[in-house]
Amino acid sequence: MARQKRQPKHSDENDIEIRDLETIAYEEESRGIDETIPLGVVPNLDILPKNMQAWVIRKDRHGKPMDCFKNEIVPVPEISPNEVLVLVMAAGVNYNGVWAGLGEPISVLDVHKKDYHIAGSDAAGIVWRVGSNVRSWKPGDEVILHCNIESETHSTRTDSASDFITYDPMASAGQKIWGYETPDGSFAQFTRAQAQQVLHKPENLTWEEAASYGLCYFTAYRMLMTQAQIQPGEVVLVWGGAGGLGVFAIQICRMIGADAIAVVSSKEKAELCMELGAKGVINRMDFPHLMFKHGETPEELAKRVDDMKRFGRAIWEIMGERRNPNVVFEHVGEATFPTSVFVCSRFGRIVICAGTSGYNLTFDVRHLWMHQKRIIGSHFANALECIRANELVRKGIIKPVLSDTFPYSEIPIAHHLMYENKHSGKMSVLVQARKTGLKNTRESK
Ligand code: NAP
Repeated sequence: MARQKRQPKHSDENDIEIRDLETIAYEEESRGIDETIPLGVVPNLDILPKNMQAWVIRKDRHGKPMDCFKNEIVPVPEISPNEVLVLVMAAGVNYNGVWAGLGEPISVLDVHKKDYHIAGSDAAGIVWRVGSNVRSWKPGDEVILHCNIESETHSTRTDSASDFITYDPMASAGQKIWGYETPDGSFAQFTRAQAQQVLHKPENLTWEEAASYGLCYFTAYRMLMTQAQIQPGEVVLVWGGAGGLGVFAIQICRMIGADAIAVVSSKEKAELCMELGAKGVINRMDFPHLMFKHGETPEELAKRVDDMKRFGRAIWEIMGERRNPNVVFEHVGEATFPTSVFVCSRFGRIVICAGTSGYNLTFDVRHLWMHQKRIIGSHFANALECIRANELVRKGIIKPVLSDTFPYSEIPIAHHLMYENKHSGKMSVLVQARKTGLKNTRESK
């Protein structure tokens, strides 16, 4: 095994140099471990190994989570002038890791063209190196990362009449999701991110809590606050209320003074939604014919329409009046979309960010045009929305909902649970944090 190397000294005044006996002893100890640092340690800041451990997806093993991920030794990513390198203390588990592994609906390796993919679009960690243009962050800062990669040209007018819309970085053709459409995500000891992705880690949260919420919460924030613009007193139907997106949608509704009606598939999940502030909960298992399937027979269609009507009445029962949802929070897609369009109120909005059950949506368009409903697509969030949303976590108004924390070795298991819909809320994995409950670098040494 090769020897661990030091990074050359930086001239950047923000870079902290520590060359003491402890460091040298650590370097001695670290020799012969493939130029990696051990898991579960926070080395001194001047140590930068050449290689790192990472859970890697390759094209020839696309498949279910237990098959597609493999722990490998890969090079620590190099950063460009506008980027930072972060020591990952904990990483958040998201459904996009499942999609990346499956290679469905496309192989992400065809998107970024690298021969391996490190998934992971949520992280809490310590800034380890900064690029030469980066002024806002310095090595040693304790941070979380949001997952929107901005196109470097998003703020410049070029030659297209529509370029003005690119002032929202989400509208730029070069917009990407870090750890999904880019290859260096957070299921590794180090990760690479744009400096604009960096946010302050809420000090009162543990590494695993801080790593858990970004992708889902910031997505829900844009969906409800920016896109659907929910108002106090409105009714919001939240599919998957106890899932990653849903737990934050319910909290955002509560914060605004809107009534969230959560849909779930079990009693335990229903309890969680009520604890988070839902006005009421519907168990979708009470509506066995509700889910749309392509190729349904006339009999199946009739049963589904009956269940859709019963489902609508269940909403009225919770509201205590014949009140339909002003907003439907959608991400399930194919299976639920006909119901979403049907139950949505006149002039209501169906805001959608995914199609977990399928993306070829079918619905009776008469319900849409006659009652002038709107369908709004939404995708993650821009840096400003992430900053605003993160402030609400820092102030304790929105809380992470962490159901489980796994050791680094169990990243495939965490994704397997997500794939099987056997989790609730969010899950995190420890990477360089040696145990749960640690909140900062000092405690983690
Ligand atoms: P999650 O934690 O697995 O939660 C999804 C919830 O949806 C589950 O709890 C489940 O709740 C419900 N569900 C699953 N299949 C269903 C079905 N056939 N019918 C009705 N409900 C069903 O996942 P998530 O993190 O919330 O993400 C959900 C989807 O959004 C994923 O596809 C993810 O990739 C996508 N997403 C997109 C963005 C974006 O920016 N575009 C961001 C975040 C997530 P019950 O079983 O309790 O009903």
